[in-house]
Amino acid sequence: MINFLFDMVYLLAAVGFFICLKLLSSPKTARLGNFIGALAMALAVLATLLANKPQALGAVGISVLLGSIVGVIMAQRVAMTAMPQMVAMFNGLGGLASVLVACGEALRYFYDPLVQPGALFSFTSWFSVVVGAITFSGSIIAFLKLQELMPTRPILVSGQRLFTGLIFLVTMVSLVLIINAPKDLFIFSMLALIATVLGVLLVIPIGGADMPVVISLLNSYSGIAAMAAGFVVNSNILIISGALVGASGVILTRLMCSAMNRSLMNVIFGAFGSLDQASASGEEKPMKEFVPIDAAMVLSNANKVIIVPGYGLAVSQAQRNLRDLADAIKHLGVQVSYAIHPVAGRMPGHMNVLLAEADIPYQELFDLDEINAEFETADVALIIGANDVVNPSARTDKSSPLFGMPILNADKAKTVIVMKRGKGRGFAGVENTLFTLDNSGVVFGDAKQSLIKVINALKEV
Ligand code: NAP
Repeated sequence: MINFLFDMVYLLAAVGFFICLKLLSSPKTARLGNFIGALAMALAVLATLLANKPQALGAVGISVLLGSIVGVIMAQRVAMTAMPQMVAMFNGLGGLASVLVACGEALRYFYDPLVQPGALFSFTSWFSVVVGAITFSGSIIAFLKLQELMPTRPILVSGQRLFTGLIFLVTMVSLVLIINAPKDLFIFSMLALIATVLGVLLVIPIGGADMPVVISLLNSYSGIAAMAAGFVVNSNILIISGALVGASGVILTRLMCSAMNRSLMNVIFGAFGSLDQASASGEEKPMKEFVPIDAAMVLSNANKVIIVPGYGLAVSQAQRNLRDLADAIKHLGVQVSYAIHPVAGRMPGHMNVLLAEADIPYQELFDLDEINAEFETADVALIIGANDVVNPSARTDKSSPLFGMPILNADKAKTVIVMKRGKGRGFAGVENTLFTLDNSGVVFGDAKQSLIKVINALKEV
């Protein structure tokens, strides 16, 4: 009876995870989804403890408290632009946890002369250690690259791919060894070590530019490792939650790749960013400068303005100033909407979260497919800290790394106003012809300062 009750609680927690994922898919319901997910996880942890080790409740409670304090501090201290690094660390720790769970359980078997691990146990613990260790070391490399604590360019020396292939082969062969000698502690420890090296070798040849995709992939790995750990310790709820993380990570990775028009193979083996793409694009044309009063005049005379936010808006933390500008021109009768590219910024949903922080109404936010046709009838496309996602060369220049990536048709608007600090290129490192078009003007400076200046200038026109 008691077991049935615990199973029901696990079922409830699993339903909570499903509802959480569903609600997370819309900005309107995301907060509630997050809360339900956290509640379901707390329920699952509590039920697992009570069902197995109620005496550990106090110790685990203290760990949960400490973890929560660290989480709250990190949520407040880590800038949103550094979120990919934080997620990388979380993934890495998730992978490490799966390795430790599998090792702990294996050690229990090793020292119990009465039990003989079966093939299923050997396979799932092998899988959990391999995927968990790759996730751990791969995530650490991703973190170091994003934080620029190590070179961000792809690191690829001659023979490296062959060596990686050999290590991969050894990892596979170790499965046979472990199934044949399931109590050999040496093989098990060597496996953990080799898989850790494999994680480093797999991520080191990928450029810093592709790290967000790699992080999403590693996120999926951490879920798959947790799922395998669930089989090791015979926990249904761990299997379900691991599978959900694994599947959603794969979906996100695919979405990111298709939004950038890159294949996953190209991300993993393409060494994107190793070329000097900046110099490959030829001579640069000058950009026409708009002083704030120019921008204010164009905006105040417009009927329809489409705002394109990008990574620079997040760097400048100018979302509230953007809202102030939008409010000011709306007050003048201008119709305002926001065009959100699926990979604007540095993580999926980056712009939605940023704009939600400034309480910008959801109904003014439109996805690429919804708004692209609207640019042709817009008087102004206002580009704030965006670059690659509005680069017209993605349509025509076959030599561009952006070729084929769907872009926002900002160049089709009557006038394009750009806010950026200087001649800096975007994430892909290529020149953007949009900024030098006859109908474009650039307000140079940090986005926040430029927005404040244009808002002040609006009072004078
Ligand atoms: P972007 O191409 O990185 O361009 C950012 C622009 O912002 C730069 O031109 C920069 O020019 C400007 N900028 C930087 N700091 C600024 C500041 N403080 N004030 C004003 N401007 C500033 O950005 P994006 O158009 O958003 O494109 C995102 C890129 O990231 C895409 O290439 C996408 O493929 C890639 N990516 C995104 C994701 C994701 O999930 N979102 C994942 C992987 C890759 P200046 O230096 O001249 O100011």
